[in-house]
Amino acid sequence: MSNPYTGSCLCGAVTFETAELSDIWYCHCKQCQKLTGLYISAAGSPRDKLVINGPVNWLPISKKSESGHCEKCGCYMFWSMHDRPNVSVLTGCLDHTNGLQVKGHIFTEDKGDYYEITGGLPQHEGYPAEGTRKT
Ligand SMILES: [Zn+2]
Ligand SMILES: [Zn+2]
Repeated sequence: MSNPYTGSCLCGAVTFETAELSDIWYCHCKQCQKLTGLYISAAGSPRDKLVINGPVNWLPISKKSESGHCEKCGCYMFWSMHDRPNVSVLTGCLDHTNGLQVKGHIFTEDKGDYYEITGGLPQHEGYPAEGTRKT
């Protein structure tokens, strides 16, 4: 897996590349629900490996975290918590997910009561106990 992971926003104004991505988590927290309407699918890139080109609007969404959106089309692409070494990349923006697996669901305690989580993937009420990969 030496190929870099690449991706872009909906309109193409923002592109990015990273040499490394963690596996994928589905995050059901309230932030993700409000930003997208449901839950997100994201993989983590080491902050220093993520190269972003184009106009990204970083919005403070809590005291510690911000979300990155294309300035032109509004596409939600990144989520970052200041004190974490990884930036979450929303997998819908990726050109490919070769070699990545979905690890499970996190922050299920915030999940809306109007949908069910189906399938056999592990579910965590908050962060997974081990493995520090936050979506
Ligand atoms: Zn765009
Ligand atoms: Zn979330």
